[in-house]
Formats: sequence, structure tokens, C-alpha cells
Amino acid sequence: MPGFEIFGSEEKKEIMDVLDTGVLFRYEFNEQRNGVFKVREFEEQFSQYCGTKYGQAVTSGTAALKVALMALGVGPGDEVITQGFTFVATWEAILEVGAIPVFTEIDTTLNMDPADLKLKISDKTKCIIPVHMMGAPARIEEIVKIAAEKNISVLEDTAQAAGARIQGKHLGSFGNCGTFSFDSVKTMTTGEGGMIITDDEELWRSMSEYQDHGHDHKINPGARGGEGRRFIGFNYRMMELQGAIGLAQLAKLDSMVVAQKKNKLSLKEAASAIPGVSFRELIDEEGDSATFLAFILQDKNHSERVNSFLTKEGFGAINFSANSWHFYPKWEHLLEGKTLTSSGYPFSSAGGKRRIIFDPEALPQSCSLLERTLVYPIGINMGEEKLSSMRKILQKAAEI
Ligand SMILES: *Cc1c(COP(=O)(O)O)cnc(C)c1O
Repeated sequence: MPGFEIFGSEEKKEIMDVLDTGVLFRYEFNEQRNGVFKVREFEEQFSQYCGTKYGQAVTSGTAALKVALMALGVGPGDEVITQGFTFVATWEAILEVGAIPVFTEIDTTLNMDPADLKLKISDKTKCIIPVHMMGAPARIEEIVKIAAEKNISVLEDTAQAAGARIQGKHLGSFGNCGTFSFDSVKTMTTGEGGMIITDDEELWRSMSEYQDHGHDHKINPGARGGEGRRFIGFNYRMMELQGAIGLAQLAKLDSMVVAQKKNKLSLKEAASAIPGVSFRELIDEEGDSATFLAFILQDKNHSERVNSFLTKEGFGAINFSANSWHFYPKWEHLLEGKTLTSSGYPFSSAGGKRRIIFDPEALPQSCSLLERTLVYPIGINMGEEKLSSMRKILQKAAEI
């Protein structure tokens, strides 16, 4: 996920536009700013790129999740369903708004299993957050359909899949809204930053006002003007420097995806030689943003043997079943309910009574799938030499 690999003169030029005005704040300062509104322009261009009507920039992908959940009206008493293979930020945001996260299994897409989703919907389910992990889609059309039948909203966590599509339609544009992250390791980066896209004007207005302390944006939609307030808010405003970098990175996004696809294909061909190997199911190979190659081996033992060989040869792969930031059984702080609050909230309610208990064994299907899965991150500038060494090692792994 390598936007940082191609940081260059385009980003510098955009940043200089901001420094020339000296206005780092996205709102107001109208006389000084000389018509420069980088965050606003970034919102417009990003939403247009994704084919949605509105974009709301915020400080991070985690903030984007929280702002979206708030705008969807999610809070205490609600359950939000997500998948057990994601980054901790997804459920941190759910707990942050006072709701309870419920975790589904993943299937061969390595994303939310719709069959398990159906089993986990309850009358408290207010929102479903499928995560498009590692640059490729969940079964989003099926998930949106299931949600619509029950009148539940869908928020797509698209933090890892900027630039990915299904038959030309961008991930993040299928549900009620989609959130993105531009942190330092994502496909396009602004250092820190996030975005929410939506076609729903009301939802966007709520997001816009919430992330700006509740300032009413009535007179100037998406900007200040009035002095009223519809509700209490918070501060998740993106600054102009991030907006500037975002514009330069967005212009490079499609070319980043092209480079990644080429590198991924080269490694995928080599990995195909491993007996019994299969690959992560892609709903639309053409629309893959190709940030990772995931290959699935015959069983846990086979995957361990192959990976210890790859590691010995200097190209060890990631096994996410052992990863403490991305997989449910490894989130000991969640499972054990560790929090700074003296009451134990959000795991306990005000009186200290435990309100959520997580079973570490709850996701056997995800465990058995991830144990067999090996993953390589794909870069833009991997270099022919490195790729060719990796290909040779993968071909040799076929004999393990
Ligand atoms: C990175 C990431 C986030 C959070 O984004 P930040 O900008 O780092 O806060 C949320 N969800 C997923 C799946 C991520 O990978």
C-alpha cells in the first residue's frame, strides 16, 4: 500500500500553493486565502473520481468511521456487524460511538461471509460494516441486498481499497456511505487523513457539521456561514496541507494500481506452481487494486512449511492468523475488555456490570482459512531484480 513510494514534485507544488497563502485552515480566512481551498477541492475530486455526489474529508480513516456512524445515528443500544479480519480501527469506532461490535466469519474473498452475516443480524443491528480488506471487494452487492431487506444501513470500510472497483463501480459507493484512509501506508496517502463518500445529501450534511463542532453549514453547504447548531459535534477537520497532498496523490492513484497489478500478476504466476495452491477469490479481477497477493495452501502444515522456506530465502510472507492488529482471536485487549475508564466502559456499563463478552473461539472458519493463507504486500517500485528473485523462490517452494 505504497503512496509514499511516489511522493514527488507534484505533492510539493500543491503544498506550496497552501504555504504561499499561509492559510492552513479549511474554512474562513476568505481575504487571505486567495481562492485556495485544497480540502474542498480534494473532496470534490475524490467523490467525483468514485462516482458519488458528496465527499467529506476528515483527519483519519478511523475518524471517518466514527463520523459516518454518528451521521447514521448509531449509538448505545445498537449493534454493528463487521468482520473478524480487519484493522482494529473498525471496531474501535463502533465502541467509540457506544455501540457493540458483532463479528462475522470471512469467506474465500477474505472478507465478510454473507451467510454468516444473516445469522448474526438481530433486532438491535443498526449498521453493517463490510471491510474491503487488502485492496479487493467483499460480496458487497449481496451484503447490501441482505441489509436492505432488513432496513439496516451499510457503511463500507474502504480504507484499504482506494481505486478498487467492481465492473467499473468504485468500492465505497455501494452502501449508504464508504470510508477511506490516507494514512502513511495506504495506497494513496496524506500522512494522516480520511474521507467519507456518499450520494445521500442529508447524511453528508450531518457528517459535514458533526466534524466541525456542529457548526451549521446551512448557508454554504460544506462550509461555514450560519451561526446556528443542529446538534453537538466534535473536531475531525482535515487541514489544507493534507488536502493539497491528497490532490496530488489522487491524480496518481490509477497509475499506482496499474503498476501494482503488473507486479502482482508476475508473483501470482510464480506462486501458481505450488501444488494445491488456490488464490483469494476476486469478485472482479479487473477491478482489483492489487495491493496484496494472497495465496491459500492445502492446510496449516503446508503453509507453515512453505513460509519457513520463503523466510529462509529472505522473502517470508505474512500470515494474518498470527497478526495481532488484524485478526479477532489476537485482539486480547478487546477479548479481555481492557480500557482506561475506571467503570470499565465500553465493556461494562456505568454500574460496572459487564455488557459485552467476546468468545475467542467464535470464528473457526476464519481461523482455518487464514492459517492456510500467505500474503505478500505489493509495491509500485518493486524492481525487476527483486521480482525475479521472488519468482524463483516461489517456484522452488513448489517442491516443499
Ligand atoms: C488503516 C485502516 C483504518 C484506519 O485508518 P487510519 O487513517 O489509520 O485511522 C480503518 N480500517 C481499515 C481496514 C484500515 O486498514
